Amino acid sequence: MSLVPQALGGWWHDYVCPTHDVELARSPEGDHRCPRGCVVVGEKIDAAALVLDHQAAAGTVRLLAHRAARTGDVAAREQAVAMLGEYADVYDEAVSSGWSGASESWMLRGKLFAQALTEAQWAVQVADAVIVLGADGLAPGVPTMLRSLLETVDDARTVLVDERDDARSNYTAWLDAAGALLARALVVCGEPVHAGLWVERTLDHLVLAVGEDGWEWEGSTYYHLFVLRAYLLALRDVKPTDLPQASVEALAAMVRVLAEVAAPDGRLPSLHDGPYDRAPMHREVLEIAALSRGLLTPTGLDTVERYARERLGADDDGLELGLDGWFAGPPVPTKAPTRGSVLFPDVGYAVLRDGRDRLQAVLDAGPHGGAHGHLDKLAVYLYGADAWQPAPGVPPYASRLRHGHYARTVAHPTVRVDGYDQRETSGQILEWDAARGRVTASAEPFVGVRVRRSLVMGDGVLADVVTVTCTDGVPHDISLGLRPAVGLDVRTVPQGAVSTWQGDGARLHGVHVSSVPAVMQAGPGRGPSHDPAAPQLVADWTVHAERVVLASLYVLDDQEPDVNVTFAPAGTTTFHLRARDGATTIEVTP
Ligand SMILES: [Zn+2]
Ligand SMILES: [Zn+2]
Repeated sequence: MSLVPQALGGWWHDYVCPTHDVELARSPEGDHRCPRGCVVVGEKIDAAALVLDHQAAAGTVRLLAHRAARTGDVAAREQAVAMLGEYADVYDEAVSSGWSGASESWMLRGKLFAQALTEAQWAVQVADAVIVLGADGLAPGVPTMLRSLLETVDDARTVLVDERDDARSNYTAWLDAAGALLARALVVCGEPVHAGLWVERTLDHLVLAVGEDGWEWEGSTYYHLFVLRAYLLALRDVKPTDLPQASVEALAAMVRVLAEVAAPDGRLPSLHDGPYDRAPMHREVLEIAALSRGLLTPTGLDTVERYARERLGADDDGLELGLDGWFAGPPVPTKAPTRGSVLFPDVGYAVLRDGRDRLQAVLDAGPHGGAHGHLDKLAVYLYGADAWQPAPGVPPYASRLRHGHYARTVAHPTVRVDGYDQRETSGQILEWDAARGRVTASAEPFVGVRVRRSLVMGDGVLADVVTVTCTDGVPHDISLGLRPAVGLDVRTVPQGAVSTWQGDGARLHGVHVSSVPAVMQAGPGRGPSHDPAAPQLVADWTVHAERVVLASLYVLDDQEPDVNVTFAPAGTTTFHLRARDGATTIEVTP
């Protein structure tokens, strides 16, 4: 029996249940099943599964190589060498059939896979295994495979960067990482290849794709991770102190983004496109944490790492144990991340958190973010002991719910008008005060409709004031979505409405009062994208008006809070909160 899959792969995003929109998994019998019981067949599904099989096989080769190097495990080495030998034949076959016929027109094509991107990810693992194993005992076809792969990667890069003029693409980072590791692997095999070229390309991409605030330009948490991981991989065997100061600072800022945007429990908000909860992503987070430790000190990723490890449980492959010597020198000192409130001005994310790091709000007031952006301007995500109102992420891309629901406004806790989606637009931060935990942002997500959203964070308390003004002088149906990932209960009360968010061991209360009468309507919706078919009660706070102020106070407490809200004609909203330990007044002037 073969040690590695023999057939060509397709596009992994096709591996999704058409009924429940969850990622499929291979059953012990070899068929493709969804966790809700479906058995799905089809050519695309088989080809998608093959991608995951190939990536898993390459991951195994890499893991075995690192284990052999770390422990001297001879059997692990022999198996890794044998798998590489088989892969040399498989890749030879793939090259002889040319560019993939499974690609869709928009894809940058690969040979073994529909996408060159997939090929680059696969190649990184294969090349790293060769570097770790050394040339001794490798099948003669292995250097040939590495050369062919380098050619594929280089050709795909030419199409992407020169023909499509898209150097900033996250694909470039992966093609460069693959190039860097393939070149190093060829050097290990005794071939004179200039590996430094790919490191230079990586450092150039860092300048193109990463803003001053440390975020990859798309503003997607997942693509940020994706590109950061490619950079760290590409810099294998580089001495951190030899890197240009600006490059180290940019990489440090990227790592800091993760530590600073993470929820109190270490969960990374799934802003824009990206999975909500997926084992391979958690493993990637662990790999990034391990590689970052080799480059920088401190990284501040302990909580993020702990959360990923917890979510993985038995699926943790322990790869990070072998990554200690990734860089050729000690890590460089860098600024420690903050757990205070922080603004990322380029992507327009404002993160507010209370002094005890129990409640966190993330406001999206930045640019749309390209093809991975969502119609979600001025959404506010809430995290704490639980994912109260998280960014929902998206299912695998072949799911109709990616664009049919999760990229749309309806999936996000923000404003809709007349039932429409927002247009692609940018928000603007008007006021930011980290010390006092205050932010105000604005956007015009519909032509002629101005929205302002102000947040004020107190100790376990968040005031949220949304002002919507229709400039055409005509009333419209204005809705603000509540989009929980926990049990939600909403009730109408004389003052307006109250909401109760039941988390796992903690409870959040909302008091909702509007400047003109509005209706809080509960109904069935969808929760986060890892299980779109799971029933989730959501709510829309709706009013037919020309102008409205929608004011909410969220309080972290077991008991329903006593809150009074007043609106001054000048526009100031005042919240009076009477709690067991005294009274608090919060004024919000948007
Ligand atoms: Zn299903
Ligand atoms: Zn989104």
